[in-house]
Amino acid sequence: MKSHKFRPESLMMSYGYKPELSEGAIKCPIFQTSTFVFKNAEEGKAYFELAYGLRAPYEAEEIGLIYSRINNPDLEILEGRISLWEEAGDCAVFESGMSAITTVLLEFLKPGDLVLCSSPVYGGTDHFIKHFLPKFGIHYLEFKPGESYDDIVEMVEKAGLGSRLAMVYVETPANPTNALIDLECVSKVAQHFSSPDKKVYVAVDNTYMGPLWQQPLRWGADFSLYSATKYLGGHSDVIAGACVGSKELIGRVKTLRTFLGNMAGPWTGWLLLRSLETLKIRMEQQARNAQKVAEYLQQHAKVEKVYYLGLLTPDDGREYETYKKQYGSPGAMLSFDIRGGEAEAFRFLNSLRMIHLAVSLGSTESLAEHPATMTHAGVHPKHKRELGISEKMIRLSVGVEHYRDIIFDIEQALEKV
Ligand SMILES: *Cc1c(COP(=O)(O)O)cnc(C)c1O
Repeated sequence: MKSHKFRPESLMMSYGYKPELSEGAIKCPIFQTSTFVFKNAEEGKAYFELAYGLRAPYEAEEIGLIYSRINNPDLEILEGRISLWEEAGDCAVFESGMSAITTVLLEFLKPGDLVLCSSPVYGGTDHFIKHFLPKFGIHYLEFKPGESYDDIVEMVEKAGLGSRLAMVYVETPANPTNALIDLECVSKVAQHFSSPDKKVYVAVDNTYMGPLWQQPLRWGADFSLYSATKYLGGHSDVIAGACVGSKELIGRVKTLRTFLGNMAGPWTGWLLLRSLETLKIRMEQQARNAQKVAEYLQQHAKVEKVYYLGLLTPDDGREYETYKKQYGSPGAMLSFDIRGGEAEAFRFLNSLRMIHLAVSLGSTESLAEHPATMTHAGVHPKHKRELGISEKMIRLSVGVEHYRDIIFDIEQALEKV
C-alpha cells in the first residue's frame, strides 16, 4: 500500500472509531454507560493492574474499558482526534475549560512553588491563581505582553523566587486587546530556570487560536489548553475543555482527573466529535469574515481604533514579527474602540439586530460584548487602564454568517450612535 499521511481535517470523520465494534454504525454511538462488563475475572484483573500501574503493560497491551470516570469510548476517540491537530502524544478532555486549566495547575504545582503568568488571563484562571492557589502556599508573579526575555528573568530573580519557579502560564493573544506573547521566548525563560532535577513547565491557553492557527507545543510548551466551549465546540451548545501534550504528562493529568472526577461525559464527548468534523471550515470562514469586518471598521469615522492581528504591518515591529512567526491566521476575534465612552458603546450594542449581545466566543454566530463591564468587570480599574481596556471598547467574535450581513448590522448600529 502506498504510504500517505492523511491531514487532520480528513481524519475528523473516522479516526479511532471501528464500525465493526458498534453494529456497523457509521458514526460513533453515545456510550451512555457508567460501567463496562469484563469477559472474565482474569480480564478485569489485568485492566486494574494497568489502571493502578501495578505492572508494566505487555507488548501491545492496552488498558480496557472499566468505568466511565476512568475511560469511555466517546472520550478516548475524541482525545485521539484532538491530539492530531497538534501532533500531540495525548489529550485529556474535561467537563469545562476551567477544569482542564485547574487540573493542570493542581497536578504540576505544590506548596512553595511559583507560577509565572502572563497578564491578562481569562477571569476564571486569574481568580484561581490569585485567590485559590495562595491558600496552598503557591505564589504568582505576572508579566505583560511586550516584556522581553531579560525583563522577565530579572523580575523573577529580583523577587528571589527563581529556584521556586515551577510553571509559566501564558495566554496569547491576550483577551480582548489581541496583544501577543512570543512563546519561544517564554520557553527560554522556563529553560533558564530549569535544572536537571526540576523542569519548569510551560502551559498555554490556546482557546483563541488553536488548534488550527497556533500550536504551542511547536514552540516548546508542554501543555496546550482549551476551553472546548469555544472554537472546538463551536455551536454555543456545550461547555467542555481539553489539554494536549506528551503521553507522559497527559498520563499524569488523566490520573488526577480520575480522582477529581471532572472528565467530560459521553454526551459532551459525542457533541465535540460532531463539532470537530467542521472545525476547519468553520474557523476559516470566521477568519475570512473577521478580516472584512476589521477593514470595514478601520475606515469608519465613528471608530477610533481596531485591535485585529490582520491589520498589523511591519511598522508594528516586534508584535508583527511574533504574529508572522507564531500564527497561521489573524483569527476571528477582534475589538474596537468606538468614539465616545460607555454610553456610545452601549447604544451600539443595544442597536444590533443580528449579532447577539453575549459573552463567550468562537461559535458559528457572531457575538458582541463590552469587556470593561462584562468579561473584564473584575479587573482592577488601574490594571484595566494599563491593559487598554476602556469604556469605549467593544469585543466581537465573528461567526460564519455572510460577511455583508455582519457589516450591515454593524453599520446600522453605528448609525444609531
Ligand atoms: C472561556 C474561556 C475559558 C474557560 O472555559 P470554560 O469552558 O468556560 O470553563 C478559559 N480560557 C479562555 C481563553 C476562555 O475564553
